[in-house]
Amino acid sequence: MSENVLDLSVHELRRKLLQGQVTAADMVDAALKRIEALDGAIGAFITVDAEGARVAAEKVDRMVTEAVRSGDEKALPPLAGIPVALKDNICTRGLRTTASSRILESFVPPYSATVVEKLQSAGAIVVGKTNLDEFAMGSTTESSAFHTTRNPWDLERVPGGSSGGSAAAVAAGMASAAVGTDTGGSVRLPSAFCGTVGLKPTYARVSRYGVISYGSSLDCVGPIAGNVLDCAIMLGVMAGLDPRDATSSPEPVPDYVESARSGLDGLQGVRIGVPAEFFAPGIASGVRETVERTLHRLEEAGAELVDVSLPHVEYSVAVYYLVATAEASSNLARYDGVRYGLRAEGKDDVGSTIAASRTEGFGQEVQRRILLGSHALSAGNYAAYFDKAMRVRTLIRRDIEAALEKCDCFVSPTSSTTAFKIGEVRDPLAMYLQDIYTIVANLAGVPAISVPCGLHQGLPVGFQVFGPMFGEPTLFRVAAAVEQASAGEMRRPKLEVM
Ligand code: GLN
Repeated sequence: MSENVLDLSVHELRRKLLQGQVTAADMVDAALKRIEALDGAIGAFITVDAEGARVAAEKVDRMVTEAVRSGDEKALPPLAGIPVALKDNICTRGLRTTASSRILESFVPPYSATVVEKLQSAGAIVVGKTNLDEFAMGSTTESSAFHTTRNPWDLERVPGGSSGGSAAAVAAGMASAAVGTDTGGSVRLPSAFCGTVGLKPTYARVSRYGVISYGSSLDCVGPIAGNVLDCAIMLGVMAGLDPRDATSSPEPVPDYVESARSGLDGLQGVRIGVPAEFFAPGIASGVRETVERTLHRLEEAGAELVDVSLPHVEYSVAVYYLVATAEASSNLARYDGVRYGLRAEGKDDVGSTIAASRTEGFGQEVQRRILLGSHALSAGNYAAYFDKAMRVRTLIRRDIEAALEKCDCFVSPTSSTTAFKIGEVRDPLAMYLQDIYTIVANLAGVPAISVPCGLHQGLPVGFQVFGPMFGEPTLFRVAAAVEQASAGEMRRPKLEVM
């Protein structure tokens, strides 16, 4: 396919913008053209906002002219003109936000999420809203009420989920960067499957105001980008205290960009933990080889590999699917067909209207989660399920804290396999097991990043790095080294215009 200006990274685009070699309008046009050419086959987007994006680009171009004229380049915000895609569970004022659910199919939010306001104030241009598993519940985008997104590396395969549309949009060059949410791996798994860089920040690092809730003690908003530096630039814009989210952290936002600029040379003396439980049998051999080869290169570059153990992680899938479903059952109680969202017709009392609206509006997986969660929270079961899960969650968090006393970060594959075929995993339990390497970060609140470390049979393999609370700079540093170590094996997906 012909040259795409969006093949350039966010930091290169900024340079070109300041030198007058590209305009915000060019970038937005490139994104929209690419979406038009490819999205029929990929299905990354639910809504494309061509008009809104063009209007925003004109505004940014006026800012660029002014910044260049006054010689004050710093006045130009860090994401000026950069086309971004937002997962469709992030509210955008005046732009439909569905969470990929029939129940919100025609919901147009009256306000934008804080993260959207922050990105827009930094000059980013929203080109559209991307597909996800319904209410972010899933690992493939197959539970979207609208369509399944296809993996740009192989259209027969899933892009991962739940932020599959966001990762596919970036991988296919339809946006320079994207935003996803990660409750149990939903930024990192699709990043691994699509060959993008995806970060789940520390819990509370990024405001959740205006983000449709799934599991409130686990939900994080995170960036998806084409490379580590761009991911760091995005986080720098997105992070920070928000008075509208009482859980958001007052911890100052450091300069992430600097950490992301170091490569293999930055690794001297960094202690990288290798948890035995994350390298146990069960990883597809190609994934294991690719991840271990990368680890070996990090060691050669001066990192010290340290054996660590996370003895309670074997319970993490069970704990996660109790906590996440319990919180979901409570969060989703608000969709009653009365205040907003789909309302079933023809019922003659409130109770049956609510029941019918929820039956028609929620898909099968969401209904399953609500049932599981309500069961775990019910009076007779609370102690045996939810309360016990919370206790084991504490043990998992302590395992992670203990491991991080011996090392600066620890690693794992992001997923045990590369992207699998659409329709291949049908059993819900087998689907839940996809999250085995990712959910511990959400249960403990710590940050984790997925960075591509090579290809296996033409499909990207994700390398995951976990760090301590607010340890994102370490993650960027190690991820940048992984990126450099695997530069020879990574490339972009080959896509033909359909
Ligand atoms: N696959 C996990 C789930 O279905 C994670 C989803 C997420 O992170 N939003 O709950």
